[in-house]
Amino acid sequence: MAWCAMVLASSYIIVFSSCWAWIIVFLFAIVGVITIFQALRPVDKPDYVLYVEDDIHGAKWRWGWIRNRLSNLCCYCPHCDAVIVYRYDLILEETHFFCENCRHSLIATIKGGNKSYAFGAVEREIDRRIRTGEYKKIGQPTAGEIE
Ligand SMILES: [Zn+2]
Repeated sequence: MAWCAMVLASSYIIVFSSCWAWIIVFLFAIVGVITIFQALRPVDKPDYVLYVEDDIHGAKWRWGWIRNRLSNLCCYCPHCDAVIVYRYDLILEETHFFCENCRHSLIATIKGGNKSYAFGAVEREIDRRIRTGEYKKIGQPTAGEIE
């Protein structure tokens, strides 16, 4: 009789422990499925990722977005759309933007520093226009154009 009780007890332990193992496996599977669904869920992109061009400091600027970060900021001539070249004036601490295609005409000047500073100033202006919602007004006629 004692061996029968031992067999029953040991089989109970085996069934009980295997049941717990299955419960743990099942919980891990549920967590895995939830994680996969969250990873595959489409990410809502903010509206401003469509904002990739604007006139800033007298020149035309274009850029792209990598996730939510601005990238590939570049300056173009507002008259002929050529890529602008720049020169830093050390004495006046300002960066001049020239168009080689328009007889090296001065397109824009950004005061305060070199090319890095100028590009940073443009990025800050883009950020400001996004925060204030001003970028949404691009393409809409201004009061002067309506009259
Ligand atoms: Zn030009």
